[in-house]
Amino acid sequence: MDVRAQISMMFHLDKCIGCHTCSVACKNIWTDREGTEYMWWNNVETKPGTGYPTKWEDQEKYKGGWQPKGKTIKLKVADKASTFANIFHQPHLPTIDDYYEPWTYKYSDLFDAKAGDDQPTARPVSLITGKNIDINAGPNWDDDLSGSSVYAKNDPNLTEDEKQALFEIERLTMFYLPRICNHCLNPACVASCPSGALYKRGDDGIVLLDQNTCRAWRFCISGCPYKKTYYNWKTGKSEKCILCFPRLETGQAPACFHSCVGRIRYLGVLLYDADKIEATASAPENELVELQREMILDPHDPEVIAGAEKSGVHFSMVEAAQKSPVYKFVKKWKLALPLHPEFRTLPMLFYIPPLLPVLGRMEDGVYNVDSDEYFTSLDKARLPMRYMASLFTAGNEEQVRLVLEKLLTVRTYKRAEEVGDMDSDKLKAMFEKTGLTPELCEEIYRLTSLPTFEDRFVIPPMHREYVAELTMDDPYTFKAEIGFGGFKGRIERGT
Ligand code: SF4
Ligand code: SF4
Repeated sequence: MDVRAQISMMFHLDKCIGCHTCSVACKNIWTDREGTEYMWWNNVETKPGTGYPTKWEDQEKYKGGWQPKGKTIKLKVADKASTFANIFHQPHLPTIDDYYEPWTYKYSDLFDAKAGDDQPTARPVSLITGKNIDINAGPNWDDDLSGSSVYAKNDPNLTEDEKQALFEIERLTMFYLPRICNHCLNPACVASCPSGALYKRGDDGIVLLDQNTCRAWRFCISGCPYKKTYYNWKTGKSEKCILCFPRLETGQAPACFHSCVGRIRYLGVLLYDADKIEATASAPENELVELQREMILDPHDPEVIAGAEKSGVHFSMVEAAQKSPVYKFVKKWKLALPLHPEFRTLPMLFYIPPLLPVLGRMEDGVYNVDSDEYFTSLDKARLPMRYMASLFTAGNEEQVRLVLEKLLTVRTYKRAEEVGDMDSDKLKAMFEKTGLTPELCEEIYRLTSLPTFEDRFVIPPMHREYVAELTMDDPYTFKAEIGFGGFKGRIERGT
């Protein structure tokens, strides 16, 4: 057992209101520079929909992530031979049109226009060419337009029949999917970089990109199946989310977490067994979620604590793991799931799938709260179970159903307690089926609905002074220096 620590994340999708405050907070701090205009290290997309860059989930098009090869896995985008063959022309990159052409407005026209009968207008101009453009795409262009024949129709997670059903007007539904880099345990971006510019920090697992080593081959952009590395056309280097590590090192939550209006974001340490990475990432698809969960270790287990000490994990990391809200949602309650586990990067950002409207019968456009069935069955929920499974469990419907059943049980329990109109036999059956108890429901409810700032973000004291020791004979880490956009930091890098 090789015990490692990872700063991990959980987003509760039922709580996201799609306000994009997270995206703007990140943009203002990190990508408000020339060459980064089109980059949104944090973006929020509408599902069903095609996302940003468009159709990023379609790995037939982009060749991101890993694929099985015998008993192990290989990158989809390249092996050694094709890396050399494609090094001057990367055929699977998204184009600027797949993202969108960034623009601003000629605001000066509003002030400089001569007096006349018509209102002056500010024309959109490209931030790349400076020329007038017609806007026809944006990073959240399909915001709230789920079910539209333009966007939902092209969502690669939907079958043809499901698309037809979704366009029936009374079934229209959508939810928001905020996305950042997953700081994966088996990052395809790191593995695909011919220059070794990407690395995973040994002590906290944050995946970074060394600006001095990057040679702009852009294999990381194709390699990342989530399309969370980006090319800066001004500096000629790639860039990515750094999980606001300068903020974390001073005890502050990342900007997108701190600013989240819906309070959907949780951050905490997970301890995991690094010896299991290859076997887990190579497992059959329907076992991926469960095996990734099994890699996560109990931070209260004395054997794990001893293992952590042996691997050089500072005890403050173990203490943070013991209080981690992410541990509770992912491992203890088994409520949070990785996004597209079939990409096999072992993402360390987990999601609680949205329960979606599950209220019972509608009459004359109004939910009938007097109906016997206040909550309807999951099978009558508007988005098909198969669709949720395609997003969060590599197609394993039972796994996603169990999570949704647990969420429904918590809601039913709270309604029974607060309003008292729930059938107690039915609630008892729900407890039996999901393994939940009133105490567990209360715990889940409290951390979901009433968490304080300190409950949501358990940030470990970062012991950067110990990292040099950790790097001595640690295959994951060695020293390097990065710097961009006026920011410089000293960090350790992995191989
Ligand atoms: S999501 Fe994973 S593969 Fe993509 S950039 Fe982040 S760490 Fe790398
Ligand atoms: S700030 Fe929070 S609630 Fe708003 S879009 Fe971002 S993740 Fe959702």
